Amino acid sequence: MFADKVKQLAALPTPCYVYDTALLAQTLEAIQAETAGHPNYHVHYAVKANVNPIVLKQIAAAGFGADCVSGGEIRECLEAGFTPESIVFAGVGKADWEIKLALETGIAMFNVESVEELEVINEMATALNIRARVSFRINPNVNAHTHAHITTGKAENKFGIDKEDTIHVIRLAQSMPNIEFTGLHFHIGSQLLVMDDFVALCQNINAIQRELDEAGIYAPNINVGGGLGIDYQYPEAHPIPDFHAYFTTFAEGLKLREGQQVHFELGRAVVGQMGSLITKVLYVKHGHVKQFAIVDAGFTDLIRPALYGAFHSIDNVSAEAEARATSATYDVVGPICESSDVFVKDYEMPETRRGDILAIRSAGAYGEIMASGYNCRRLPKAYILSEL
Ligand SMILES: *Cc1c(COP(=O)(O)O)cnc(C)c1O
Repeated sequence: MFADKVKQLAALPTPCYVYDTALLAQTLEAIQAETAGHPNYHVHYAVKANVNPIVLKQIAAAGFGADCVSGGEIRECLEAGFTPESIVFAGVGKADWEIKLALETGIAMFNVESVEELEVINEMATALNIRARVSFRINPNVNAHTHAHITTGKAENKFGIDKEDTIHVIRLAQSMPNIEFTGLHFHIGSQLLVMDDFVALCQNINAIQRELDEAGIYAPNINVGGGLGIDYQYPEAHPIPDFHAYFTTFAEGLKLREGQQVHFELGRAVVGQMGSLITKVLYVKHGHVKQFAIVDAGFTDLIRPALYGAFHSIDNVSAEAEARATSATYDVVGPICESSDVFVKDYEMPETRRGDILAIRSAGAYGEIMASGYNCRRLPKAYILSEL
């Protein structure tokens, strides 16, 4: 990926992100190839993973929709060229101004997460004399195999409406003159690699649909959310996630009713592998029990390891490093004054020296967008690999 760019990488102001938009294009094509046979499938990019304007524009230009979780994201999406009709809007705590913006913009649908929110949307839609299109985010109580901080579909999570209340909330929506009931929404978690989790989701959706049938309710749209994971261990071997397995799981698992549209909200799987955080080694510190590669990036640039204990593979991309024969074990750590500012512990790498450039891989999703200014640090910039 970086082989021919070594000199250019060394000249970049570190820490910074580098995005491989050619890989992004291939990833988008792979998704389109898998969904081409299903005219009722609609993929909305989960914008919160990465809102870099170049990335957003590329995804919009490829014809994808957007999944937003804030008014700010809706604005960014409109700016980047997503059509309002392709935007869906989820979130447990939508502020009044965000609801108003979404109503005035004419987005495809709200994914409503509580009765309280439904009532506010109805009031605001009434004031604007329009009908709000509303799907309900249902908590299917699926225990997905992932980190506790990124499961979202268990009964104890704050997201969605308990599945027992599904029919009640739909009836309520149908009784409101300024609400149009558009369907059901689910999202069970992130970084899911076990297809059985999605099979379980399908089974839950099928059970809910049978209840809807008995109640005489038709849901035009079924939104299964996102969550497909990427290979953080071997980004070079698996640059594009297994979209075939993913979409086939839903094609086989979901029992659809006539005319139903299926929506997907993929974030990490779209942008995760195309990004790397580029950082410079400031010091190699030889402690009594450990060897530390102290780099100029910290959790202010990429918080996933500190926040979720997430693993990112790290490459030494310096021209000089290739010639060194030995390897050694390092804790790769940042400069932030917190003990959690560690990218990886006990990591075997080619011998590393001050001035080397490291690429922290698979950092395209939930990387740059989660950067902070803690310790008065500057936010990292992003560069496009092909433009270096
Ligand atoms: C975060 C989120 C997604 C995307 O999750 P990924 O794991 O990045 O695919 C999809 N839908 C909703 C509602 C989300 O909050």
